[in-house]
Amino acid sequence: MEKTITKAKHLSLDKRKLFYQSKYDYYKKVNRTLLIVATIAYLFFFVTDCALYGRFARETLLSRAIIVVPLAVFLVMYKKVRNYKIMTIASYLMIHIIIWCTDWATYILPNRDFAGEGMLIMNLIFVCAGFVAPYKYAIFFHTGLIVDILIANQFIHYDNVGMMIMFNAPCVIAVSTMHYAMENGYLDHYLTNEKLESLVIHDQLTGVFNRNIFKKIADAESEEFTMCEGLPISIVMIDLDYFKKINDKFGHEAGDIVLKYAANTLKSSVRSSDYVIRWGGEEFIVILPGCDMKKALEIAEKIRVNIESGESTICPVTASIGVAEYIGGSYHDVIECADVALYRAKKNGRNQVVEYKDEE
Ligand code: GH3
Ligand code: MG
Ligand code: MG
Repeated sequence: MEKTITKAKHLSLDKRKLFYQSKYDYYKKVNRTLLIVATIAYLFFFVTDCALYGRFARETLLSRAIIVVPLAVFLVMYKKVRNYKIMTIASYLMIHIIIWCTDWATYILPNRDFAGEGMLIMNLIFVCAGFVAPYKYAIFFHTGLIVDILIANQFIHYDNVGMMIMFNAPCVIAVSTMHYAMENGYLDHYLTNEKLESLVIHDQLTGVFNRNIFKKIADAESEEFTMCEGLPISIVMIDLDYFKKINDKFGHEAGDIVLKYAANTLKSSVRSSDYVIRWGGEEFIVILPGCDMKKALEIAEKIRVNIESGESTICPVTASIGVAEYIGGSYHDVIECADVALYRAKKNGRNQVVEYKDEE
């Protein structure tokens, strides 16, 4: 039995990367908004600086205002970089820069009574950054808060550094635990979505793709193929011969077995990178990326021979096949061409491969 996946570490490395990228993509807007809010909140602490001085606190103005520079860098990166690892590190770096600027302002301030409370607030900002992050990153960078406090203490000499650590450490543990639980929750959502997406693009009887796969491999508006740009693409259209007779003679369930046999034969006759699609009823389409007409005709003949010579367990089966090469434009056009060739194969006596030619 397949192992149930309940944690990201159960996924293979490649799948784990896709999962974390999906998690980043899902939460990145929330993360950006909260970092902007955190920066604005940080700037507003200039008001408390003024209260401590009892006048305009020009001394801390630079250490407060400078925060807009890393934020601007982060926002530019947000637009240009998609990689979750880089962006997670960038967002945590942004928070640590806020902490370092806070330390700088605290170093200047005449009264450091509220430094401890200030640091506690930082934990809230770590809550928001963890949404986009693999939870191991969340633990690592949040623990960095304790390191920041210890380093800052070398310069600031807090009166109560022990208490600051004792108050912040449980926050780090609580927030990290929350992110761990949240990550597993998102994993559940991600895997369910993956299953649903797979159901939508696969034919339930034969297990090959259904028509919905075209939404993935063709542009929604122009209907042009989006895979292997610059390389030829050919279409092979396969229709089982006298299939209705098989249904009539052996029953619908036996017909289903023949359909599964045909689908399996198609899959084993082509490369795993080709697309085997049940177009409808007993008609299949195989898309061959990177194949010109000559190569596609060879593969089509191989398919025809394999269907004819294989064991369907019900009765001998043959197929008629039409082949057309894609020359750009809507994929419907090339399917129509393959259909024209297929019609000719039927008319010529079935169990044969016919190439689409323009004059048809
Ligand atoms: P031709 O050689 O001209 O293609 O003749 P044919 O009998 O194969 O073609 P026709 O289009 O007349 O019949 C196709 C049959 O496929 C009719 C339909 O009942 C059957 N069919 C469609 N979908 C399924 C299915 O999911 N399972 C089964 N068992 N039969 C199906
Ligand atoms: Mg048929
Ligand atoms: Mg048919």
